[in-house]
Amino acid sequence: MQEYKKLLEAGMKKIMKTGSTGRFEVPGARVMISGSRTIFNNFYEIANTLRRNPQHLLKFLLKELATSVDMREKNVIFVGNFSQAHIDRKIELYVKSYVLCPECGKPDTKLVKEDRNTFLVCEACGARHIVARV
Ligand SMILES: [Zn+2]
Repeated sequence: MQEYKKLLEAGMKKIMKTGSTGRFEVPGARVMISGSRTIFNNFYEIANTLRRNPQHLLKFLLKELATSVDMREKNVIFVGNFSQAHIDRKIELYVKSYVLCPECGKPDTKLVKEDRNTFLVCEACGARHIVARV
């Protein structure tokens, strides 16, 4: 019974953590470790939820995880072993840097390229912020 309670508490903490970006819910990464590779099963689903170009998100993750990718059909496979929590943290960082508006906190944003700069433009409040290149 004690074990079950602990599991339940851990589960609740996780749900609360996912909710830290407000009403915007990002699905947790579904990863599977296979030998020396990590298969990221719902990469495209996450990119779609964030309404971001999958290549942009992928480039960010590769840089943050300091690894390379082994694309097979519709699967994103990272070279090396990464836990779900590790990848979730990187996605959270991506959301904070490239999805949520720093002014109003809403996810209704898009990335706009102008000359050599990329701006995070908010469709809700109109704010524009320059973002770092991936
Ligand atoms: Zn805004």
